[in-house]
Parts: sequence; structure tokens; C-alpha cells
Amino acid sequence: MNVPEIFGSDVFNDAAMREKLPKDTYKALKKTIAEGLPLDIHLANVVANAMKDWAVEHGATHYTHWFQPMTGLTAEKLDSFITPTDDGGVIMEFSGKELIKGEADASSFPSGGLRATFEARGYTAWDATSYAFIKEKTLCIPTAFCSYNGEALDKKTPLLKSMEAINRASLRILKMFGSNATRVIANCGAEQEYFLVDREMYSHRKDMIYTGRTLYGAPAPKGQELEDHYFGTIKTRVAAYMRDVDEQLWRLGIYAKTKHNEVAPCQHELAPIFDTANVATDHNQLTMEIMKRTARKHGFKCLLHEKPFAGINGSGKHNNWSLSTNTGVNLLDPGKTPAENAQFLLFLVAIIKAVNDYQDILRASVATAGNDHRLGANEAPPAIISIFLGDELTGILEALSHGDRYEGKRVEMEIGVDVLPHFPKDTTDRNRTSPFAFTGNKFEFRMPGSRLSCGGPITVINTIVAATLDKFADELGKAGNFREALDELIKREYKENSRIVFNGNGYSPEWEQEAQRRGLLNLKSTPASVPCFTDKKNVEMFSKYGVYSAAELKSRVEIILDEYCKTLNIEALTMIDMAKKDILPAAATYIKELGQTAQLAEGFGADVSFESDLIKRLSSLSAQTYRKLGELENELVKCHEISDIEKQANCYHDNVFTVMGELRSYADEIETLVGEKYWPYPTYGKMLFYVM
Ligand code: ADP
Ligand code: MG
Repeated sequence: MNVPEIFGSDVFNDAAMREKLPKDTYKALKKTIAEGLPLDIHLANVVANAMKDWAVEHGATHYTHWFQPMTGLTAEKLDSFITPTDDGGVIMEFSGKELIKGEADASSFPSGGLRATFEARGYTAWDATSYAFIKEKTLCIPTAFCSYNGEALDKKTPLLKSMEAINRASLRILKMFGSNATRVIANCGAEQEYFLVDREMYSHRKDMIYTGRTLYGAPAPKGQELEDHYFGTIKTRVAAYMRDVDEQLWRLGIYAKTKHNEVAPCQHELAPIFDTANVATDHNQLTMEIMKRTARKHGFKCLLHEKPFAGINGSGKHNNWSLSTNTGVNLLDPGKTPAENAQFLLFLVAIIKAVNDYQDILRASVATAGNDHRLGANEAPPAIISIFLGDELTGILEALSHGDRYEGKRVEMEIGVDVLPHFPKDTTDRNRTSPFAFTGNKFEFRMPGSRLSCGGPITVINTIVAATLDKFADELGKAGNFREALDELIKREYKENSRIVFNGNGYSPEWEQEAQRRGLLNLKSTPASVPCFTDKKNVEMFSKYGVYSAAELKSRVEIILDEYCKTLNIEALTMIDMAKKDILPAAATYIKELGQTAQLAEGFGADVSFESDLIKRLSSLSAQTYRKLGELENELVKCHEISDIEKQANCYHDNVFTVMGELRSYADEIETLVGEKYWPYPTYGKMLFYVM
């Protein structure tokens, strides 16, 4: 495989544009994209035609406006390029109008009340900053999805708006430092964790098929305690799968870079090289799709659920985030000169303040039923938001805010007088328990779950940092002496917000108490966190930047909670179905077998204590399972009767979820007692430690 040659071969990227477009069209398009202007129809016609020619040459027959509805998935409706001719044949056509704007019946996508079904139309608009590409013989045009009133019905529109907000706010600050940058870009690098299980075994698990995770399952004798999987040798079959995925991603111009085994058995990670946030988000969505599709070919099922198996790690998607300028400067890099250092510290303190002020929405941005299993479960960061800076940087900020010298380092405490030490990744990246960690020249947000679109969390980070930078810019803009004002602001804001900085072990129970003492939020579940999106301060902040209107926020809360309720409802129904149809019958069959054996053995005067003890225990567990089933059914009925979505979500969380846990514990014990060939499902042991 010649990687440089295939890289981006399925993308209508800059090289393809340069080749296919007339020179002035190419220039005009680049300018339009760079300045974020709407595309002129004449220009669009030429671009569309060239794009179509290119796509047809690459085997495409259809095109689609590829978008990201609030389900967190991607959506597409395919149209072929064919246009009938007079002589009964067809030609392949694609117009500028079709490129710029598509109409989609929005009625079956979640809108959280934004769009009444009688005005079901929504439209998709090309995001020209993300290249079109070919997937499955279809030209995919990355688009944003809005209602006819202009309300965002997707994850992309708010993301693009938040990128604009952080661009403008950062530029205000940079101007004060004399920078000649004209654009600030938010970047994202998304590390994608996933599980691969054998497809045949998967096909025997109703829970995985319906819900993406195991709802029952006794632990295998071995878990992840030997830590022998992390970075371990990759199994041949898995390696072949990974190679296949890499190649497809490269063809799509996705910088797939790192792959390795993760902590849990059957768990792996794929990380691309970071990119502009909206492109990285598109690419991550595509990566997830390709990972799932390719698994089938290799006899695997790719699980992107945040917690497929109890008792071993779940999967996250670390969002690495940074800001850079069009002059090639990473604003989260401490820099080499005193002026760069001061600028870095200002951005750093802005991020600290933003995260402290908006802990609530940062937490809420990663809330899903699946992720609730991870956060605070001794494998992922806790549900408490805090920032890891590392001892060195914290020491510097502490000393600075108290007007002291920072011992042992080349740092004078008057800002900008001396040079900060460089923070190599190694000294800052030791702490894996922090939800929001500074890792040398970027922040790593570790709370997002493996299935989540990067769109939501990155939108929140961009906007809260933009809002804070704007406050700083207002203050500094009024100051008589910029240097003094800067010094004073950094000291004050660090002092006022330093409670959010925590370099210790985020998994420890002491941290939970310490965080409470510091007054930090600990929003443990989706229903406990998501409603904060509509708190006054958050509505004001988001609407100031046009990222989300009040109505959009309300709709999002509704969508997330509704999805939460539906997820739990499906899980509960699946548990009931499995227990009634498979688990209790398996126990009964085994009990019968034991009974018959005992009868037979008794005829010989043999000791039947094994059979009788087991019959008693299994009968008792079956009865308890049966009673819990009834309880679960009752709890579901109670939830269904509640019309207020927030109350309903809480009811699912407090009641349904609790009973599900109890039901599982009985059934899992039955699994440990029933003979292997009587058990209806592949066990954890078989699924997690399959032999190649
Ligand atoms: P680790 O597992 O040690 O956190 P990885 O190599 O798995 O590191 O992933 C790091 C991710 O961070 C990669 O996607 C990488 O491209 C991304 N990254 C590196 N530098 C930046 C940056 N300046 N801004 C955003 N993301 C970055
Ligand atoms: Mg990582």
C-alpha cells in the first residue's frame, strides 16, 4: 500500500479542487471559504459540476447532504446524479443549488419541540470548510442542518458558531499583544476507544443487539487485573481489522495515527492527528461509522457503547483541545519569550475561570445514559469537574498570585520579565484521573463517552472560553497600563478560580469530600446534570454568542432526557424479556435435570446434598428474579405515567435503574450456578477471552 498515494484519494480536497476547477473559480472558492462567506450561485454551479465529474470518475453514482442530527449519529438521504434526456437516456448532473442547499424532511429527527411536525421541513447547508468525500459510491457533502426558522437541528451548526465566537474573542486578546494573526482556530484530536467482540457470539446476546451493552453477565475468572492487555501485542485478526480501517480512513483524508490495545480485554484505541474542530468532528463521526462497518467484514462486532461490560473499563473519547492562529502559533504553548509567556498565562487563566464558572454545562455536555456508567466508576474521571495543571505550572501560578518567587525555576514573578520553563508533555501527563488535564500544549477533556459526537463538548469549551476571554478583553481594553492590568488580572483570576485546580488522584474517595468542601459540583447522573443548560446564566452566555438560543437549549434538554428515558426503557424491557424467555427457563431446566439426577441417585442411597442444595439455591434465586421482574414492570408503568420529561428521567434513574441492578445481581448469580451448556448466552469469559 502506497500511503501517500492513497491518502485523501476519496476526498475532493485542495489538490482535487486545484486540478478540477478553473483557476479563477478555485481562487474565488478558497477566498469564500477562508472568509466564511456564503457561496455565490454562479460559483457554486461551476464547483458542483467539477465535483460531480470528479465523483463520477471515482465511481460515484449518488450524492448526499451528510449531516449530524441531534441523535449524535450521522444522517444521509441519497440522490443519484441522473437526469433524463429527450432520447430516453440519462446524463449525470449536479447543480450549484443542489450543492449549497438541500431539503430534508426533518420530522423524524429529534427536535425537542423546535419544529412542529406540520412544518416538518428542514434544510441542510454545505459547510465548505469540511471537504466533500466519497463513501460507498456516494458523494457526501458535509452540511449543517437547520429548521426553516434557522434553528439548529444538529450538532454542527452550534459548533461552527462556537468556533466563530472563540475566534473573535481570541483575536481581541491577541491584538493587545500585538499579534498579526487574523484567525484563531479551535482544534480537536479525538482518541477513540472501542471494543471488538466476535460477531457470532454477539449475535446470541439480545442485550448487546438491542442496547449495545451487556445487561447481564457474571464476571469471568479473569478481568483486567493483570494489566496484560494495555499496549499488548495485537491479535492477528484484530491487526487485520485495524489495517483495513486505517486504509479506509486514509483514503478519506483522515489522519489515523495511533492504534493500540487498551486496558480492558478486547478493548482498543484509535487516535488521529488533531485537526480543526469541525473537521475533526466530521472525521470522528466517519471513523466510528467505518469502524462499525469494517468489523462485519472481519467477523467482529465493534462496540462503541460507553460501558459494554460490567467490572472492566468502559470506553471514552478523550477530546484534546487547543487554540492556534493562522500564523502557526499554538496559544496553549507556553512559548519562548516573556511576551508569549504572559499571553499563554492569560489564556490559561481564562480557561481555568471558564471551567470553574461553567462546570455545570461542561459536565452536562457529556451526559448520556451510557456515560453515567463510566463517570465516577473508578476507571473514568469522576463526575466532578476539575483541572489538572501539573505541579510545576500550579506552583508558578500559586507563587504568582501570592507575589512570590517560584523556587528553582527560571521564573520572575513580574509577568513577562523572565521566561517560563517549557512544560514537556512527560511532566504534565502523568495524571490520568483528571477530567480536564493540561498536557503540555493542549487540554485533554477525558469525560466524553466513546459514542458521543465531539460536537457537543467542543461547542461548550469554545463558548465558555470565548465568553471569559471577552470579559478579560473588556477589562484590559479599559486599562491605562496594559502590563499592570494584565499582571493584576492574572493574579486575581487565578486566586478566585483556583479551587477548580486539582492535581491529585481524582478516583479517590477523599477527592469527593475535598471537592465538596471546595464547593465544586458533583452531578452524578444525566437527569441531575442536563437541566442546567437552561439556567439563566447559561442561556445568557450561549445566546450572547448565538451558539444556542433559549429555545434551542430547551429543545436540547428535552432531547437528551427523552433519549435517556428511552434508553432505560429499552434496557429494562430487554432485561425482562431475557429473564422471562431465557434465564428463568434455563434455571428451570437445570433444576429439573438436578431433580431427576437426585431421584436416580437416591435410589442407590447416594449423597444428594449437591443436587438438593443447588435446587434450593436456584429455586430461591429464580423466585427472587421473578419478583424483581414484576417490580421492574411496575416501575416502568409508573415512569410511563409521568408527562414532565425531567421528572420522568429522574424516575427512570431513581427507580427503574436501581431495580435493574438488583435484578441483574440475582440473574448473574444464577449464571454462576447453572451448568455451562444450560446457559443461553455466551459468557463474559467466552466473549472477552476468545481464542483467535
Ligand atoms: P495520549 O493517549 O497520551 O493522551 P494520544 O497520542 O493517544 O495521547 O492522543 C493525543 C491526541 O491529542 C492525538 O489525537 C493528537 O493529535 C492530539 N493533539 C496533539 N496536539 C494537539 C493540539 N495542539 N491540539 C489538539 N489536539 C492535539
Ligand atoms: Mg489518551
